[in-house]
Amino acid sequence: MKIYNYAAGPAKLPDQVISQIQEELPSVQGSGMSILEISHRSALFENILADAQQDLRDLMKIPDNYHILFFQGGGTGQFAAAPLNLATNHRKIALLDSGHWAVRAGDEATRLGFDMDTLASTKNIQYQSLPHLPENQNLDQYDYLHLTMNNTIEGTAYHQPVRPINTELVADMSSNFLAETYNVTDFGLIFAGAQKNLGPAGVTVVIVRDDLVHKVENVPSILDYDLFVKKNSLYNTPPVFPIYTAGLVLKWLKEIGGIDEMQKINEQKSQMLYDFLDQSKLFTNHITPSDRSLTNIPFTTGDEQLDNQVINAATEHGLMSLKGHRSVGGLRASLYNAMPIEGAQVLVDFLEDFEKHY
Ligand code: PMP
Repeated sequence: MKIYNYAAGPAKLPDQVISQIQEELPSVQGSGMSILEISHRSALFENILADAQQDLRDLMKIPDNYHILFFQGGGTGQFAAAPLNLATNHRKIALLDSGHWAVRAGDEATRLGFDMDTLASTKNIQYQSLPHLPENQNLDQYDYLHLTMNNTIEGTAYHQPVRPINTELVADMSSNFLAETYNVTDFGLIFAGAQKNLGPAGVTVVIVRDDLVHKVENVPSILDYDLFVKKNSLYNTPPVFPIYTAGLVLKWLKEIGGIDEMQKINEQKSQMLYDFLDQSKLFTNHITPSDRSLTNIPFTTGDEQLDNQVINAATEHGLMSLKGHRSVGGLRASLYNAMPIEGAQVLVDFLEDFEKHY
């Protein structure tokens, strides 16, 4: 039985990349040593790191005045790193409350002693559409606006550029990084945990504009942008294997034709599922169509027991990890870059069949 993995993260990686890892595991690039055992100071790894940075720069068209850094600590680490490194002037950040991960980011900043203002929230409508900035609001009293570009749990995403007035934009792109095209120059800082579209858990990418990086007192070294720029992400031992794997995924994405091509495929996959859900009499996705995510699609029958029945039947058919996040329940299909079109089709076929026989 063929297995399809719809997990929200860590998530499916391209088959080609898994095979390549398997093949190269005993001897990376003919070195006679495994990627799991080489020094991060070796020329071999320095090349792997440089290649990954260059491929990411090419794919996202990242201008020279932006640094590409690799951290540990996940998206959660960046919830702390972003205010510590960037909120140095007013010690105050603005937030659009689009769901769970936006709230978590705000809570972490507050915990560290920063002021945080929620400018808009859609909590009262269960985050079924996105909050937007009040029009023409001057945000010059804030160091930046924090935005969750894709809400992994709620299934919404900002597809259009957001341009706050007189402040920087900090974007958590953890769940749609490399899945749709954005213009990097719209952002002061982009960060993303790797474990959805880029690689295995353990590495977090930070893309930050040069003029925002400066020496800040009392930032833990492990979260210090200035230090990581100076040391080219090699201040301490980096996550060697996740960076290597991310490098393979980036080459795979280049072969596919880059992010624009990937976005078209992601639109096709998600549309197949949304089209099914919108005509179904059993299943519903509650998100406002223009705000729907390309990568995370929650849906429900409206009955918890029946939802569990669907999840169990799907598992028996090899369709794995369709359980929604514990905070919202229901089902969720994550259709990240590595999920082939066939994976969306198989899921739709299964749901159609379930509905017919229900
Ligand atoms: N932001 C978003 C949008 C996420 O989806 C997640 C994790 N699912 C996080 C942040 C937290 O990331 P991590 O678990 O890597 O700390």
